[in-house]
Amino acid sequence: MLVRVPDYFDQFQCLAGACPHTCCEKWEVVIDEETAAFYQTVPGDLGDKLRSALQVDEDGDVCFPLDGGRCPFLDGDNLCEIHRKLGEDATSVTCREHPRFTEDYGSFREITLSASCPAANALLLGSGEPLAFRSFETEEPKEDGDEWLEYLISLRERMLDILADRSRPVKARLASFLALALSAQHCLDDDCPESLPETGEAALHPAEDGLFPGALSFLTSLEILESDWPALLKQAETVEPGTVPEALLERIAAYFAFRYLLKAVNDGDLLGRAELCVFAVLTVERLAGVCGLTEALRRFSCEIEHDDSNLDALLEAFAEDEALSPERFLAELGR
Ligand code: SF4
Repeated sequence: MLVRVPDYFDQFQCLAGACPHTCCEKWEVVIDEETAAFYQTVPGDLGDKLRSALQVDEDGDVCFPLDGGRCPFLDGDNLCEIHRKLGEDATSVTCREHPRFTEDYGSFREITLSASCPAANALLLGSGEPLAFRSFETEEPKEDGDEWLEYLISLRERMLDILADRSRPVKARLASFLALALSAQHCLDDDCPESLPETGEAALHPAEDGLFPGALSFLTSLEILESDWPALLKQAETVEPGTVPEALLERIAAYFAFRYLLKAVNDGDLLGRAELCVFAVLTVERLAGVCGLTEALRRFSCEIEHDDSNLDALLEAFAEDEALSPERFLAELGR
C-alpha cells in the first residue's frame, strides 16, 4: 500500500521525559481491546495497578482516567511506567500512534504529525522551505478506494501549488485557494468529478466585515481542553496579529490542507475543509500576537484538531453562520 507523509516525517523523535507539554497529560488515555486484554495477564504489582486503573468512560471506551491531570502511569521523570517496565508494545495504540494522525483511504494511507506535539511542531516550523510530501510502499495489500479520490488528489495538488506560489502574498494565495475550493464544491454537489476546475475565480464579493474578532469568540463556545484557552482567545481579540514570516504561514496552510482536504471524500464538504485550513492559519496568526507562533499553533491543534466535536462544529458553522461565510473569509484575506 502507498503511504504519504510530510517530508520531515522520518526526523520525528519523541522528546520523552524532556517534553515540555507531554501528551500523557490533559488527555484521557483510551485503551484498545487487545491492550486491555493483555493487561489482564500482566503479573505482579504492575499488573494489579493496570487492572485497577482501567475504567470505562461515558462514551463506553476503556481508558485510564487522569490523576491530577496526568496519566496514572506517568512517573516523576515524565516517563511512562508501562513503556519503561514492559516495553513500547505494551502501551495502547493511542500512545504508540501519537502524534501521528493516520487516514486510511483504502487504496492508500496518509499520515501527518500533529502540531500539538512540541517535537512535530518544531519540525513544521523549523524550516522556511515549501512543505513537501513523499510517499513509500508497504507490504500491506491495498483495497478499493472511493472513485472521487483520484480527482480530489489532483485537486489538492493544485490547491497546494497555489499555496506554494511565492510570487504572490500569502493572503492572496489563500484567497485563490478558497476560490478554487468554492468552484470545485459545485462539482462535488453535482456529482461531476470530471468537471473539477483547474483554477477558481471568486464569484463572490467580499463582505464588509472580516472574520475577527467574532471568530475568536465563536471558538470560546466550543469544547475546551485547557482552562486558559478562553482567556487566550479573549486577549487575541484586541492584540495585533503576530508578525509571522510568510513562509511559515504557507507551511501551516499546507499542513492543514494535506490533512483535511481529502476528507471531503467522506461527506462531500470540500469548501468547509478549505475554510478550516484558512481559518486555522488566520487564527494561529492572531494568537501568535499573544503567545508566539509555536505556542499558538500548538494550542490551536490541541483544542481543535484533537477534538472531533470541535472540528464538526466548525464545519457546521462555516456552512450556516453568516459571520463565518466565504464572503467574510474573502474580506478578512483582503485586509
Ligand atoms: S507530545 Fe510529542 S514529544 Fe511530547 S511526549 Fe508526546 S509524542 Fe513525545
